[in-house]
Amino acid sequence: METLKVRIGKDLVIGEPGHIVVQTMCNTHTYDIEATVDQCMRMSRAGAELIRITVPGMKDVPCIAEIKRILRSNGVMTPLVADIHFSSETAVAVAKVVEKVRINPGNFHPDHETARARFAELLGVCKGYGTAIRVGLNHGSLGKYITDLYGNTPLAMAKAAMEWLQMCVENDFFQVVVSLKSSNTIVMVEAYQLLHKMMQESGVVFPMHLGVTEAGNGDSGRIKSCVGIATLLDQGIGNTVRVSLTEDPVEEIPVAKYLAERYGGKPVSMPHGRERVILDAACDYGPSLLMHRIDDLKLDTGLGAEFDAYLADEILQASRRRFYKPEYIACPGCGRTMYNLQDAFEKVKARTSHLKGMVIAVMGCIVNGPGEMADADWGYVGEGNGKVSIYKKNVPVLRHVPEDEAPDRLLELIESEL
Ligand code: SF4
Repeated sequence: METLKVRIGKDLVIGEPGHIVVQTMCNTHTYDIEATVDQCMRMSRAGAELIRITVPGMKDVPCIAEIKRILRSNGVMTPLVADIHFSSETAVAVAKVVEKVRINPGNFHPDHETARARFAELLGVCKGYGTAIRVGLNHGSLGKYITDLYGNTPLAMAKAAMEWLQMCVENDFFQVVVSLKSSNTIVMVEAYQLLHKMMQESGVVFPMHLGVTEAGNGDSGRIKSCVGIATLLDQGIGNTVRVSLTEDPVEEIPVAKYLAERYGGKPVSMPHGRERVILDAACDYGPSLLMHRIDDLKLDTGLGAEFDAYLADEILQASRRRFYKPEYIACPGCGRTMYNLQDAFEKVKARTSHLKGMVIAVMGCIVNGPGEMADADWGYVGEGNGKVSIYKKNVPVLRHVPEDEAPDRLLELIESEL
């Protein structure tokens, strides 16, 4: 069944056969207009076809309007997506400003019936302004009404997405892209596969935005993203990709472009050198491991036995077939980030690298971070004002810890329970 084509702004279409759209997201504060414009320009030059910017509240709506104005006056026409959490009112307002609005059904409004009514209002505004929508669910932040019915499962994710897509159909609104992200590659792949099947059975297939959320950084973040995304693209599922790395977001683009070219049937133009070896191996073998077509991995990259063993370990862990180190979840950061996330993540990794198999989350903000940590054993969350909260599972066990002490306090807490 053919996938719907969703127009974003004047020139971009998501859902075209053979074109996988590359997108990324700013990690600057939206009120810092100069820094956000600068980052958007760098992203656009690097090959981003769509750029997302967080819009935490009503006061940020004029900021994104000004960012768009400056970009357009400088000839940067890349469409903008407003990222909304916890404020349906802001979604309705910003839909008049940008080319696309991303909403998370899990936190669109605390009351489910009000959420549905507000969503219908948003669809009306989007129709009037030609604005597209992404229904973007995350494994860690599903609404209570849906987890009460189906647990915190891939099925719950797909069912929740179908409910919101059905609302779009009922309102005769088809400019919609859908995503079901998780930091767990198996959960993510199963959720997208289920939703793809459900959409086909319903007779309306919306294009899909693929991503492994909170994938971390460095080789591990790249490999985890490639394994999850490539498994789906390999099966013909997915129309746009975002590779979430806890790094400068411009660094995400070569990886996303690699995936878009490789699975869009185009010659792969980037990256080169060792990064390329890593991406090739992750995409060549990760899907087969994840789908249990093979059970183990031995590599011969020509770069030495030590490197081959390390790369095989990383791909096996990303496919969740064998764990050789802790499983880190780290959000990429955005305009809500409350501290130096990249620095905090490195410090936490340095203290905890011996804790094989443990799931440790490092999150940028106290508003969204705890809800997005999903199945982490421990969470390390920026509060702002130089302070960190430490969570055990989803429960805060230490609050207001000064940042310079927090990695040690986390390790003490973990070791006291070993
Ligand atoms: S958890 Fe991270 S990416 Fe998500 S809203 Fe907070 S800072 Fe942004």
